[in-house]
Amino acid sequence: MSEQGILVVVSGFSGAGKGTLIKAMLDRYHSYALSVSATTRAPREGEADGREYFFVTREKFEQMIEEEQLIEHAMYVNNYYGTPRQYVFQQMADGKDVILEIEIQGALKIKERFPEALLLFVMPPSADELRRRLVGRGTESEEIIDKRLHRAAEEASGITSYDYILINDKVEQCAQEMHELIQAQHRRVSGNLDFIEQMKAELKAV
Ligand code: 5GP
Repeated sequence: MSEQGILVVVSGFSGAGKGTLIKAMLDRYHSYALSVSATTRAPREGEADGREYFFVTREKFEQMIEEEQLIEHAMYVNNYYGTPRQYVFQQMADGKDVILEIEIQGALKIKERFPEALLLFVMPPSADELRRRLVGRGTESEEIIDKRLHRAAEEASGITSYDYILINDKVEQCAQEMHELIQAQHRRVSGNLDFIEQMKAELKAV
């Protein structure tokens, strides 16, 4: 059977708890690699270059686009975000499933370029809960929170392009569900055609 890893896109409204959820899954299961994106946004307190993001200038980002170093990129609330190609391909070749925590425009580009990718959308239990989490995080101004909530309303109409939604109420439970969905994707017939062909050939030879 093919040991190649798959691409897993995880999107969700800002404040839906994607980061915490992905961390819980990575802590528990070790067959995953998390892609670190490049961005032109400024680091938040506690974020480190090369860990949460590669923090780059706009000029550097545009050069990365030019040199085709990114498998997708998008503009989100006035900043560029993009997924570096090399790490993703390397990890997939090594048999790891690569998690891309990216927004919806990027997710749609990934689906177009890699139709076998799995697209997951993380939702909070309610819109009220979303606002509470964004305010509670305390890292953004009121104005940015409003922009992010506005963007969430826009993004809601794109959810139907995803394969599954995850309701992030209890983190541990949700992380396990995410793991199970990814494992199920590995078993899809369309992703195992070589194995099936091989089995057919072997059966003919019996
Ligand atoms: P934040 O500024 O809160 O870290 O991220 C803002 C949004 O950008 C989030 O929805 C996040 O998932 C998304 N994002 C992060 N990295 C990438 C990326 O490489 N590509 C795209 N398209 N979106 C990204």
